[in-house]
Amino acid sequence: MVPAFAAEGPDMSAAAPRVSFVSLGCPKALVDSERILTRLRAEGYEIARKHDGADLVVVNTCGFLDSARDESLSAIGTAMKENGKVIVTGCMGATPELIREKHPNVLAITGPQAYESVMAAVHEAAPPQHDPLLDLLPPQGIKLTPRHYAYLKISEGCNNRCTFCIIPALRGDLVSRPAGDVLREAEKLAKAGVKEVMVISQDTSAYGVDVKYEGSRFHDREVRAKFYDLAKELGELGMWVRLHYVYPYPHVADVIPLMAEGKILPYLDIPFQHASPAVLKNMRRPAHGEKTLERIRGWREVCPDLAIRSTFIVGFPGETEEDFDMLLDWLDEARIDRAGCFKYEAVNGARSNDLGLQQVPQEIKESRWHRFMQRQQKISAAQQQKKVGKRLPVIIDEANGGAGKGRTKYDAPEIDGNVHVTSRRPLRTGDIVTVKIERADAYDLYGQAV
Ligand code: SF4
Repeated sequence: MVPAFAAEGPDMSAAAPRVSFVSLGCPKALVDSERILTRLRAEGYEIARKHDGADLVVVNTCGFLDSARDESLSAIGTAMKENGKVIVTGCMGATPELIREKHPNVLAITGPQAYESVMAAVHEAAPPQHDPLLDLLPPQGIKLTPRHYAYLKISEGCNNRCTFCIIPALRGDLVSRPAGDVLREAEKLAKAGVKEVMVISQDTSAYGVDVKYEGSRFHDREVRAKFYDLAKELGELGMWVRLHYVYPYPHVADVIPLMAEGKILPYLDIPFQHASPAVLKNMRRPAHGEKTLERIRGWREVCPDLAIRSTFIVGFPGETEEDFDMLLDWLDEARIDRAGCFKYEAVNGARSNDLGLQQVPQEIKESRWHRFMQRQQKISAAQQQKKVGKRLPVIIDEANGGAGKGRTKYDAPEIDGNVHVTSRRPLRTGDIVTVKIERADAYDLYGQAV
């Protein structure tokens, strides 16, 4: 999840209507926020620093977990109190009754990706005063991420029906963007100085299935909306390309040589969620029948320094001690670099609540979570130690003279570890420098720029 914040932009005109914006939720919601902000700026709206004094507030909500819904409702409450004219969009917009129950006076509620409806509501509440001479919109759009990295959304929605997840109900089935559109956006980002793109979607490996991998124009050529084709083209744009939300289907093997050749980053974010076939089946996970350990072995044969990060759920209904032990054994075998772990939460509306499976008591969930974390921590620490003594390229996220914080190719922003760098020369945010790694702990690396 990305914390709430109000976005800012350059001042445009005293007469321009002012919109305060709150973005909650995952990177996919963040991309939605960027698109709405881009549209607002394109139409001459000013982005306000505070709710107070703005013409209206847009709140992009997250409805994935009950805790996220509470956070969204509280953000709407703050906006109502400090401003009073509030438009709600995002995942929680799919359940307007929950919002109206608490905040009956919000101006409008729209669902996720309903950019047109959000803009229509904004136009009604604060008509635009568009003046192209004052339009300072950068060609890559407004980005909420630092200037040197960006998220690149390649599709919306999801064709899977994992029983614990309500995203398909909120966001609908898979709709892939044409490859040409994605590549043009990526190219603009590269021209604007972005050094690293994170490819995101609900199911990146399923890209193009809905449009039967239809081709579209990019410069002088036709590019198919296909996982491999897109990864290959993105790898030509001179940025670090990182793949997120990939499932372990056989065709994932196709992109591994691109990683070995250094075209895209040797990194896969694969939400495995569990290792026990029985639990995976109850979860209805995509590719649940795949032999994941064999697959990982095969990928590493082609690209030995491949980093894998994943997330898991413990305490899913029906999970037995045997299932959980299987998960711990899997961790020992797979030796993945990073793993996040969640205790199962019965999300309102998720089918996993109605499968007739026995709920796992809270204290068992807690204890399994601790056992999981302890086991994985040891593995992550050992993986980290292997980097000590190496010279690795590091992208600098924060710089303060000769000290800075960055990431290797094996670490994504926000979710993985950092490299704490010292340097004789001043460091600059967005630079990619070579760092000699001197020591490591379970999460972070420490070293000297060379
Ligand atoms: S793959 Fe599963 S968990 Fe991910 S969005 Fe689709 S249904 Fe939800």
